[in-house]
Amino acid sequence: MPPTHHEVVIIGSGPAGLTAAIYTARADLAPLVLEGEPSSDSDQPGGQLMLTTDVENFPGFPEGVMGPTLMTDMRAQAVRFGAKVETVKASRVDLASTPIGIWVGDPDAAEPTHTADAVIISTGARSVMLGLEAEERLIGHGLSTCATCDGFFFRDQEIAVVGGGDSALEEATFLTKFASKVTVVHRRDELRASKIMQNRAFENPKIEFAWNSVVDDVLGEEAVTGIRLRDTATGDLRELPVTGLFVAIGHRPNTDLFAGQLAMDDNGYLLTHPDRSTTDIPGVFACGDVQDHTYRQAITAAASGCMAAIDAERWLQSRQCWSTSGPSGAAPARWSPQSSRKSPTSRPVRCASPRSTWTRPPNWPAATRS
Ligand code: NAP
Repeated sequence: MPPTHHEVVIIGSGPAGLTAAIYTARADLAPLVLEGEPSSDSDQPGGQLMLTTDVENFPGFPEGVMGPTLMTDMRAQAVRFGAKVETVKASRVDLASTPIGIWVGDPDAAEPTHTADAVIISTGARSVMLGLEAEERLIGHGLSTCATCDGFFFRDQEIAVVGGGDSALEEATFLTKFASKVTVVHRRDELRASKIMQNRAFENPKIEFAWNSVVDDVLGEEAVTGIRLRDTATGDLRELPVTGLFVAIGHRPNTDLFAGQLAMDDNGYLLTHPDRSTTDIPGVFACGDVQDHTYRQAITAAASGCMAAIDAERWLQSRQCWSTSGPSGAAPARWSPQSSRKSPTSRPVRCASPRSTWTRPPNWPAATRS
C-alpha cells in the first residue's frame, strides 16, 4: 500500500501532543495523531496523566479534574477540530527523507505507512519504576511519581521517597511542606545527589534516611498503608508504616525511535533550539517531556505543544510558493515568501512537493528500532 500523506503527523498523545493536535487542527492542517497503544504504564494513549487520579494544578478546574478525564477531553477537543487519531505506535521513522517517512507495524516494510511534511514528536518520558507488582495496583492511590502533582494530598502524613539522586532529594524536600515526616529510602549508604541538595535534605528536620535499604514491597490493597524494606547488607526485612510512597529513581524519555537521527542529551532527551520546538532537522519539532527534564508538568507540556504547533504551521507556511496571475492571465510566477508577501495581489499556493513517492535518503543509516 502506498503511504498516506499528511501535512502534519504528531507522534504521542499526552498534553503536549494533544495540544499540538488542537492547534494544528484549528490551523486547518488536518493532523494525524499516532496516540500509542494501550499499556499498563505511562507509555499509553494519554501518557502519564492516565496514571494520575486528581489533577488540582491544571488551570481551569477549580475543583480539580481526574487525569484520564482531562486527557479524554483534550483528545475530544482535538478530534472536534478535525484531528485524526489512530491508536497505534510508530515503529520506525526516517526523519531525513522528504517527505518524512513514518512506519506503523512492520518496521522492515519497504515503504512507510505515512508520510508527512512536518512531524511533531511528543512521545513523553516515563518514570523508572521499581518493578513491583504492587506499583500497578497502587499508582494514583498513595503511590506517585510526581511530588509537585500529588504532595498536597499528604498533609500531616508520614510518607517515603525512594531514590538517592537529585530528584529524590528535591521531591523529599518539597514534600516536607505537607508531610509530617519524609523517609528517604536509598539502596546505598551514600547519596548520588549534588552536595547542595544533600545538605538541604540533611538540615531538614522532617527528613529521615533509611540507608542500605530497598523497597521489597508496597503494602495496602486499595491504598498505600506501608512499605516493606529490605536491608541490602543483612537481608533483614522491616515494615515502615507510610500512607504515601514517591518513586524518584529517574526518568527515561521515550526516544529510542529517534536514536541516530535526532540530537539528544546524555540522558536521551531530545535537544530543541532555545525557546523553540525546532530540532536540527527542518520540519521536525519536539515538545513536552521528551525534551523537558526540568519542569515535567502537564501545563508546561501543553504549552510546549502549542509552541510546536505554531512552529510547524509557520514552517509549513514558509515552504509555500506564492503566485499571482498577471493581467494577461499568464502562467503564475513564483516568489519567495518574503518578497511575495509584499505584493497585495499575491496569493499562496502550495509548492509541488514529492509527496507521492517516498525515497530513502542516500547513505542514511539504518533506523534504530525500539
Ligand atoms: P539519578 O541521578 O539517575 O538518580 C537515581 C537514583 O535512584 C540513584 O540514587 C539510584 O541509586 C537510585 N535508583 C536507581 N534505580 C533504583 C532501583 N531500582 N531501586 C532503588 N534505587 C534506585 O536520577 P534523578 O535523580 O532523576 O536525576 C536525573 C538527572 O536530573 C541528574 O543529572 C540530576 O542531577 C538532574 N536533576 C537535577 C535537579 C536539580 O538540579 N534541581 C533535580 C532533579 C534532577 P544509586 O545512586 O545507587 O545508583
